[in-house]
Amino acid sequence: MKGRRFLKRREFIHLMGGFGAALAFPNVLLQGCKKALYKAGKQTPVIWLQGQSCSGCSVSLLNSIDPDIASVITAHISLNFHQTISFATGDTAINIIRQAVENKRDDYILVVEGSIPSKSDLYCTLGEIDGHHKGIREWVEELGSRARAVVAVGTCATYGGIPAAELRATGGNPTGAQSVAEILPQKTVINVPGCPPHPDWMVGTLVQVVLKRRPRLDEYGRPLLYFKDTVHDNCERLQYYKQEVFAEKWGDEGCLYKLGCLGIDTNCDIPKRKWLGGVNSCTGSGSGCIGCTEPAFPDTGKRGLYEHKKG
Ligand code: SF4
Ligand code: SF4
Repeated sequence: MKGRRFLKRREFIHLMGGFGAALAFPNVLLQGCKKALYKAGKQTPVIWLQGQSCSGCSVSLLNSIDPDIASVITAHISLNFHQTISFATGDTAINIIRQAVENKRDDYILVVEGSIPSKSDLYCTLGEIDGHHKGIREWVEELGSRARAVVAVGTCATYGGIPAAELRATGGNPTGAQSVAEILPQKTVINVPGCPPHPDWMVGTLVQVVLKRRPRLDEYGRPLLYFKDTVHDNCERLQYYKQEVFAEKWGDEGCLYKLGCLGIDTNCDIPKRKWLGGVNSCTGSGSGCIGCTEPAFPDTGKRGLYEHKKG
């Protein structure tokens, strides 16, 4: 059919997590998944809201390469609403999500990017209803309570992230930023953290949810498929660590532990998956891991992103 296509086997394996998933998805099952995705995807609306965010998670999503997000949107999901990439504006755009609330729909997937302010709805509003600025919190409560599934993307939506940081001398977290799970305690929110999250994590999780295959989650609500191992487990510099060859300054050869790398305490598959279509990783490029997928980010140790370890 014109404009529609099945995911290729290679694309599907990529979405599901790479080589490990290939072992877990024999060919016969892959064929079934592809057909199910085609059938289910055309029927699954996605509403994507942005709270207190820099839009970096959406920018990362738009960098998905294999398959690209345009293919996923046109062939497999119906992205009914997205604040940043929507063609519709004003009442036309707001009416899309307003109708989902008023018609009591329950067939959509709600994706939330960014944290939710608790001190005042005026810190983050989305549209106007009858002259009243509607807070993002109200939308998340209304749409999230009935959604078929709720996916929080990025560390702001999953754990509060940068808006909830308490490092500032002023006391921090001026808006009372909360995670989506705190706004919807009655739901099992699927958390895809990262600052930003890798596009594979977002698209792969979305595809699993479209297929009604609830990902297995860890204690922080993260899909184990992407967040089971630590950065350190698979780091390109692990041999240096074992041989106790440590970089003393940026640009040195060696393990980055003494420069503040947090890979030992951080769950994330980037050293295997890599960024930019497989070009490089955080530790591989020499910047160290800042622990951006962890609930404590960026307050880890309450000491900023990097701490030089002496000795
Ligand atoms: S650079 Fe970081 S993650 Fe890599 S081996 Fe050293 S401490 Fe572990
Ligand atoms: S390796 Fe560390 S800094 Fe890089 S994406 Fe993963 S958690 Fe974030």
